[in-house]
Amino acid sequence: MSTAPQPFEAEVGRVLDLVINSLYKEREIFLRELISNSSDACDKLRYESLSRPELLGEDPELKIRIVVDPNERLITVVDNGIGMDRDDLAQNLGTIARSGTARFLEQLSGDKSTDLKLIGQFGVGFYSVFMVADRVVVRSRKAGTEQGWVWASDGRAGYVVEEADGPVPRGTSVSLHLKEDAKDLLSEWRIRDIVRTYSDHIAIPIILEMVPVAGDTKTKREPAQINEASALWTRPRSEISDEQYKEFYHHVAHSFDEPFTRVHFTAEGALTYTALLFVPSAKPFDLFDPKRRHGVKLYVRRVFITDRLDELLPRWLRFVSGVVDSEDLQLNVSRETLQHGAVVAKMRKQLVKRLLDELARKAKEPAAEAGKPAPYEAFWGEFGAVLKEGLYEDQESREKLLELARFRSTHGDGWITLDDYVGRMKAGQETILYISGDSVAALRTSPMLEAARAKGVEVLLLEDPVDEFWIPAVGDYKGKKFQSLTKGAVDLSKVVGDAEPETPLVAEGDLGRLIAKVKLALGDAVKDVRPSQRLRDSAVCLVAADNGIDLRLERFLRQHNQLDTASGRILELNPGHELIRKMAELAKPDTGNGTELDELSKLLLDQARIIEGEPLPDPGAFSRRMSAFLARGLGGATASA
Ligand code: ADP
Repeated sequence: MSTAPQPFEAEVGRVLDLVINSLYKEREIFLRELISNSSDACDKLRYESLSRPELLGEDPELKIRIVVDPNERLITVVDNGIGMDRDDLAQNLGTIARSGTARFLEQLSGDKSTDLKLIGQFGVGFYSVFMVADRVVVRSRKAGTEQGWVWASDGRAGYVVEEADGPVPRGTSVSLHLKEDAKDLLSEWRIRDIVRTYSDHIAIPIILEMVPVAGDTKTKREPAQINEASALWTRPRSEISDEQYKEFYHHVAHSFDEPFTRVHFTAEGALTYTALLFVPSAKPFDLFDPKRRHGVKLYVRRVFITDRLDELLPRWLRFVSGVVDSEDLQLNVSRETLQHGAVVAKMRKQLVKRLLDELARKAKEPAAEAGKPAPYEAFWGEFGAVLKEGLYEDQESREKLLELARFRSTHGDGWITLDDYVGRMKAGQETILYISGDSVAALRTSPMLEAARAKGVEVLLLEDPVDEFWIPAVGDYKGKKFQSLTKGAVDLSKVVGDAEPETPLVAEGDLGRLIAKVKLALGDAVKDVRPSQRLRDSAVCLVAADNGIDLRLERFLRQHNQLDTASGRILELNPGHELIRKMAELAKPDTGNGTELDELSKLLLDQARIIEGEPLPDPGAFSRRMSAFLARGLGGATASA
């Protein structure tokens, strides 16, 4: 019987291309992926069997077998776990259900080294078999069903799913017809070595069965268990190597970076449980996907219960993965009971505390080499934006998070802490000043910084959208209020700063007259026009009103359709700037410069909008005005030459 293959979903096709072009250096990781899937399948069946013991039937000892047949160049990984029916096979092995996959694939550049890093964060799972095999046959029967199914593919043309001819044992077997150049995998020594390296932590026995080489009647090898088969988290910490921890992390997190750090402890007392949690070092590809959840699996006395208990960790720790194994909960506890249960709430609190304490410990670790960033700073660069969500979501952790937070500022290029900032505050400076925008690099050149810079006052440069939300929620740090340099009146006059050169200012009366005329010219386009305290080298800037929302937050909300009207802006003029001085001259009574002043005012407003990153309402008009003034300037230059 032959059926035309069903093509793979487009995304699978692209992942397969990557796999077959062998982005992975270590091809043997396919075995880790298969064992990991088999172990999950056994966990799921064990859980299901709590309420339906008949599912285990005659075959209650869950195990994984690796059958190596050098004669057929075949490796088969067999489990007696939950199994898959026809739909499961098509769905799980023909599509990639993970959210964010399309976006992940878009990011691939075709450059092998960067793609390798990305795909490491993504994990190709089952498809890694096509690195070593040119034909893969999966036979499976789902627990509780009678019919077995066969899925087969060469990893190119698509796949076929058919009814199995004869009886199929419960669970799944994956047979790999190895490529010619993967023959080296057919050795007992290699398989043992791979399992020891990558899968020793698997809590289910892994049995190796070597099929004797044809013609060799002398060597007879019995099936042998090749892993320790005790749950890693139950072993004493002193007996677990970093390598073993790392491989366990790869298994639970389905990601392939080095863990940044881990916490492994047993809580005793009111609640008894063991937790082994990992903090990754590289961003998972779906970190900002709204569907992203933490990767902590809940076990009850070594039996897997669920990996979907959102309440076990807050959203702002969604990059953490690992295992929590409770001694107190009922084995047959339902997810609904767990969600609102006191036990889970209490565990969550303790887990958060442990994780934050561990991060605080890591934050003290110095850089490996002088001049290199400290490990914690690299971590913060990857995950800081997520941790900052905790600042407004979680009052209880706020204080610790503020200490863990790192910032860019006008003081050098590195990361600083809020304590660093407070320690450098000038005499008379009462607030922690910040500006926010789309990138630190762009913020560094913002005119809003000019006055502060002239006085040597440090300013935090914030570039994460989340900054707009936590700052208003937090309000202050150790009694010092956060203050935006782009909002309201900023008064640096009381700050005793570094010596600054005096600039001649426009006389007050002249300035008042100019401001009145500019206001008239701009009408409703601005809410107010006033002299600026924050500028030194630039002529103008736009700021938000004292009680308004920050300019960037407003843009952000408008982009996300959360806000439809723009609130009024305030245009500030720098009374020390040459252009403003000249304009004040033009504004003197009876000079007859009304139209010119009008045009200049509009030009200035557009200029301030550009600096602020706001779109120009009428770019054509801006360009015409600009050209007219430039032409006049040039005309003057040629005339006087
Ligand atoms: P991942 O394991 O990251 O979800 P995979 O590509 O490795 O991705 O596997 C896809 C899905 O196929 C798994 O989530 C699981 O539902 C199913 N699957 C794979 N192997 C097995 C197996 N041995 N037994 C039961 N289900 C399996």
